[in-house]
Amino acid sequence: MYPEVQLFIDNAWTKGAGGKTIPVLNPATGEEIGKVAHAEKADLDRALAAADKGFKAWKKVSPFDRYKVLRKAADIIRSRADEIGKIMSMEQGKPFIEAKGETMLAGDIMDWFAEEARRTYGRIVPPRAEGVYQLVVKEPVGPVAAFTPWNFPINQAVRKCSAAIAAGCSIILKGPEETPAACAALVQAYVDAGVPAGVIQLVYGIPSEISEYLIPHPVIRKITFTGSTPVGKHLSMLAGQHMKRITMELGGHAPAIVFEDADVDTAIKVLSANKFRNAGQVCVSPTRFLVHEKVYGQFVQGFTDFAKSLKVGDGMDKDTRMGPLANDRRVQAMEMFVADAVSKGAKIETGGKRIGNKGNFFEPTVMTNINNDMRIMNEEPFGPLAPIIPFSNFDAVVEEANRLPFGLAAYAYTKSAKTAAAIGAAFESGMVSINHHGLALPEVPFGGIKDSGYGSEGGSEAIESYLNTKFITQVGL
Ligand code: NAD
Repeated sequence: MYPEVQLFIDNAWTKGAGGKTIPVLNPATGEEIGKVAHAEKADLDRALAAADKGFKAWKKVSPFDRYKVLRKAADIIRSRADEIGKIMSMEQGKPFIEAKGETMLAGDIMDWFAEEARRTYGRIVPPRAEGVYQLVVKEPVGPVAAFTPWNFPINQAVRKCSAAIAAGCSIILKGPEETPAACAALVQAYVDAGVPAGVIQLVYGIPSEISEYLIPHPVIRKITFTGSTPVGKHLSMLAGQHMKRITMELGGHAPAIVFEDADVDTAIKVLSANKFRNAGQVCVSPTRFLVHEKVYGQFVQGFTDFAKSLKVGDGMDKDTRMGPLANDRRVQAMEMFVADAVSKGAKIETGGKRIGNKGNFFEPTVMTNINNDMRIMNEEPFGPLAPIIPFSNFDAVVEEANRLPFGLAAYAYTKSAKTAAAIGAAFESGMVSINHHGLALPEVPFGGIKDSGYGSEGGSEAIESYLNTKFITQVGL
């Protein structure tokens, strides 16, 4: 049932020039379920030539026609959500319901960028002299190189591809080798909707080789990457050397503050569900739980009860609420974070261990007695670990919330409008959600500051980074 995944270059699915493949493993069983084609330099050269040709044609297509193609792609991907959800759950591990939801959301994201294509307005600037016309116009930036990870095989790619297609760019997407089939199904939806030859290419292979070849290449005009901060910094440096535009969606370490006047039951319910969603492999996952000492005991108890109640299993079992981690590296990272914290005095309230000896299962884990020397308090865990820390005053908790170089998401719970406004202003982060989890809708900005990245992949800001601003002044003769 799991498809063989090929490269997509110049409107055709193709094997890699060297015939090499990479195995794809089911993280719930560890078994090989398929293979993905491996691009060689010759494939990248073909992808670059196709993207160059595709861009020259696509930039001339009107925004209204681009809108129609993207709207159609949205309908197509929604109609395939059951089938795509199953392959995503098999390759990535997340529960089918989350995988299907991610596929449905892709339709909303395509719809948003379809509409954005029609809003790529310029403006007319009043002249200083009669007869002068001063026009500001928006033009597509050119062929884009995009790099997307395995935690949301479709969501991370659909934002980049839809923004590029809406703006009139072409794109070479380096998809996630560990979860390639759902990403390929996304590309198929654009193709079936009528995106012409050369506008979209999909490649897989060795990420560093592909990025080092594509980023400096003169055909490529923009780089967009989602992944870890160290890799994002490396790619930004490379892009900077060649003066290429960038969008970087990088790591986070979101503080989640629960004030003493919060609705604690709601805070427990929403934060715990979001902590363990996608087994914690989410860049905006709540990570450091900072809880007022007066409600600390209640919060720890409720959060721990939720973690214990979570049914962990194969994403395709209908009772599963948390799947395996996407790869063995994450299990090893969880073991390292837990061992490090315990060696420095942490208490494990629940969890803390790998489950079984087959697949990448790890227990939903709650830890207390935490201090800032622990690695979990400084590095992105990207897994189902929840350290809970008490606090007693506003200034101290703000200092802790902003202590790290990350600045992606931040959360707070309080019934006071004054505290909500104060904490909203105090967080040094790109996104703040108060008393609910309201991030990542297509129509709102999505992006980080500080080491968490540069640029936005949502809201009206998102398409801007795929557009150049050109000024034309003219006088009638
Ligand atoms: P990693 O840092 O090696 O890779 C992260 C992503 O970057 C992967 O998709 C990988 O294919 C890609 N990548 C790595 N080197 C690259 C290069 N030179 N050029 C182009 N792409 C490159 O580690 P990993 O084990 O896959 O993930 C570990 C960490 O990455 C996590 O702990 C998390 O911090 C981060 N991550 C973040 C997101 C996110 O949504 N922001 C997604 C996945 C991983």
